[in-house]
Order: sequence, then C-alpha cells, then structure tokens
Amino acid sequence: MSRVRPVIPINEVLVDSLKLVQDRQLLAGAMPLKGFQRLRDSLLGTEGSLDYRVQGAVDGQQRPMLNVHIRGIVQLQCQRCLEALDYTIGIDAAVRLVAPEALDSECSDDPDEPDCVAASAAFDVAEFLEDEVLLALPAYPRHLAGQCVGVAGEAADIAGGQITAFSALQTLKPKLKQSKE
Ligand SMILES: [Zn+2]
Repeated sequence: MSRVRPVIPINEVLVDSLKLVQDRQLLAGAMPLKGFQRLRDSLLGTEGSLDYRVQGAVDGQQRPMLNVHIRGIVQLQCQRCLEALDYTIGIDAAVRLVAPEALDSECSDDPDEPDCVAASAAFDVAEFLEDEVLLALPAYPRHLAGQCVGVAGEAADIAGGQITAFSALQTLKPKLKQSKE
C-alpha cells in the first residue's frame, strides 16, 4: 500500500498520439475525480481518483491503437433509493487511432470492431479517459436487490414485483441449506 503513483494534472496531459504508438509509450498514473468536469455531474462525491494506463500499440493489420485500462471506484446515486452507491470502474479497451478527416469513412458501428478516436499531435488524454469512463457508467445505477437504503428503497422493492420475488428467494435459500444439513 506504500506505492505512490504520480498524480498528473489532467489539463497538462496533451501528447502526440501517433508518437505514443510509434514508441509504444506507456502513460500511467492516477487522476483525481475532481478534475473530470463532465464526469462530476454523474457523481455524488468527487473524493478519490482513477488509476489509468494508456499504451500505444498496433493491431494485427499494423493500424495504430491505444490500449486503455482504467480502475477505480466512483460514487453514483442509486436510482431506486437515491442513496450513494459505490460503482467499480474496470475498463480494458483497445481504441483505434484514425486521422480526424477519416473518422466518418473509416469507422463503423460494427460491435466486433474497436471504437475509433481522432489522432492528434495534441491528444488530450484526460478527455479520452473521461469519455471512456462516461461510456462505461450504467444508465440506471441501482443497488443489488434488497440492498437499497431506507424506506424509499423498501417501497421501491415492493413496487418492483420481480425484485421482491428475488429477495424472497434469497431469504429462502439459507433455510433450504439448513434443512439439507
Ligand atoms: Zn438503492
């Protein structure tokens, strides 16, 4: 736990993305959540940071790629009970670098193809990471069944028939186990 990661001010992380690929360069560090202007709107708290690694690479066809890994925990608001919910971010993606003018022609919506991002000599790593995190956030965050907080949560559980049935099953399980032993 004594390993200290460099904290890079995110507004200063402008790099030449194709040079990253050429040199197979690795950028790694921790970025404070406070620095993410757009992401902050989706968060209940901005304490903490996200660990990231971005490395230049090429794919099987020698096309420039960025391999991106992001780890951390963000606090979202449960849409059922409106209380805080710790959401684990675990992103491992390969994104293709494409000349800005070729973005429309080169990139398809094919889910088997990697996503594309415009290559740039002043590539904003922070913005890139923020985009990846925003894409990974659930549209409707909520606690697991039965884990909502307070009366609002219970009422919401009762309103959702399926969830209530599942909770009932969960409480039934230990009894079944006991009867077997
Ligand atoms: Zn909840």
